[in-house]
Amino acid sequence: MKKSLTILASLLLLIAIIGCKSQLTNLSGNNISGSLDKLEIELIESADTSKPMRVLQTDNLQDSLVLRKQSRDIIPGKDIQTIEHLIARMYSTVTDSASMGVGIAAPQIGISRNVILVQRFDKEGEPFESYLNPVISGYSKMKQDCREGCLSVPDIRGTTKNRSYAIMIEYNTLSGEIKRELVEGYTAVIFQHEIDHLRGILFYDHL
Ligand SMILES: [Zn+2]
Repeated sequence: MKKSLTILASLLLLIAIIGCKSQLTNLSGNNISGSLDKLEIELIESADTSKPMRVLQTDNLQDSLVLRKQSRDIIPGKDIQTIEHLIARMYSTVTDSASMGVGIAAPQIGISRNVILVQRFDKEGEPFESYLNPVISGYSKMKQDCREGCLSVPDIRGTTKNRSYAIMIEYNTLSGEIKRELVEGYTAVIFQHEIDHLRGILFYDHL
């Protein structure tokens, strides 16, 4: 991470981001949304919220087909209990000693839906937070190098060089509100990595 960013550079960055177009209403563009189907609900509710889910792996052919799929939006304000259950199980999975990570996307546990969890290293206490239908509506021109790995990719780590230093994200809350936030630094890389998963993109595609 580049920690020696000057205030001037930050200001320029902000101007560059604000200059980018954003789509406030149709968050993820051409994605079809829909209620959770029976199979998705069964998988999510197959165990209680404390139980981690199996993390799909790229060295498994069936798993990699799912990991390469485009995920669908969830309908904000719908299936709230099941989505809460999903988020809790994603949290149990990403904090499980078998698969400790700094972020996770729903496709990684077999649910092809636009839901991610990100550890907010830019917030006090570094909490994990969930985001529904997240999109990146603005990228800084300034890039950063970041050493990345992935819970779904065994044995590969590498330094990506094309992650934006700062991004503007837009997402839905559980109740259906639309929120917008500027994220910088390492946390911005986590968002870019996890949102890639929703489009079937893996970090080593950037190497
Ligand atoms: Zn990943």
